[in-house]
Amino acid sequence: MTLPVTFLEVVEVRRITPRTARVVFEAEALDDSVGAAPDQQVKLCFPRPGQQVPELPPQSADPMGWYQAYLAIPEAARPLLRSFTLRRRRPGTRQVEIDFVLHGDAGPAAAWAARAAVGQRLGMVGPSALYAPAVPFADAAAAADWVLLAGDETALPAVATLVGALPAAVPAVVFVEIADEAERQPLESGAEPVVHWLSRGGAAPGAVLVEAVRAAELPAGRPFVWLAGEAGAVRALRRHLVDGRGVPKASIDFTGYWRHRLTQDDAPTAEDLADAQERLAGS
Ligand SMILES: Cc1cc2nc3c(=O)[nH]c(=O)nc-3n(C[C@H](O)[C@H](O)[C@H](O)COP(=O)(O)OP(=O)(O)OC[C@H]3O[C@@H](n4cnc5c(N)ncnc54)[C@H](O)[C@@H]3O)c2cc1C
Repeated sequence: MTLPVTFLEVVEVRRITPRTARVVFEAEALDDSVGAAPDQQVKLCFPRPGQQVPELPPQSADPMGWYQAYLAIPEAARPLLRSFTLRRRRPGTRQVEIDFVLHGDAGPAAAWAARAAVGQRLGMVGPSALYAPAVPFADAAAAADWVLLAGDETALPAVATLVGALPAAVPAVVFVEIADEAERQPLESGAEPVVHWLSRGGAAPGAVLVEAVRAAELPAGRPFVWLAGEAGAVRALRRHLVDGRGVPKASIDFTGYWRHRLTQDDAPTAEDLADAQERLAGS
């Protein structure tokens, strides 16, 4: 299965909320599947200090081969990889929109996004069918009695595409934790999801989200659940839904998007590895 790899050039940058930068990129190459499904995930490749453009192994028919070529680049020149979601592809173009949460300068992705300017270049790996769900979201949602989507602002680009793909007949409840009210974004959907915007205030990441879902009166029947955001919060939500509400594990699609006080380069913790095992078992 080919792993798509392309260079991106910034063509537009906008603050859609005080803490979210929407960057529009023109891709060198983009196949028709890009933007055709919700929740498409990519790895962005950021240049190292002193580089204008990241050093990028070419596209490969063998994803492991690409990754080995990536690892063979000396560390000082090897691009930093960070995961993002395609918010939207502009119809009829090779332009894609990606929304970056501006969480400070501690990480290369957020620091880059805070200063992004037209003409800058990144690399993009994916989206790949390798990482697509076995059952497309719209089918999983249509087969359920109701849908639950829960996440923080890093999950909001994916949530926005998922509510856009909700079948109109299936009730849906959405919980999004944001820093404050100014971070709300319009969500467009052909369905009528009930959306709860939860301001974090000074609370720890994910605490308000977990508490809100725990306290919620949720619809009856078998749901399809999608969870993403800070890994500890995602873990707590999944535990609550499985142990506290009897939701079958197979009905929950969950991903830790970031880890409090750990970067995406830091080694996985024992809990991360256990989550990965569970995800594999459920796929
Ligand atoms: C499949 C997937 C899709 C994702 N989609 C998006 C997306 O569309 N938009 C988006 O903004 N993010 C998205 N994320 C999350 C993003 O990859 C992480 O937030 C990542 O850590 C950002 O990289 P960085 O270089 O800024 O920070 P890192 O170098 O990874 O981390 C540096 C420090 O910042 C902290 N940190 C990281 N993220 C946050 C945060 N959001 N709030 C507060 N502190 C943080 C870390 O705990 C660490 O202490 C996605 C993640 C995954 C796995």
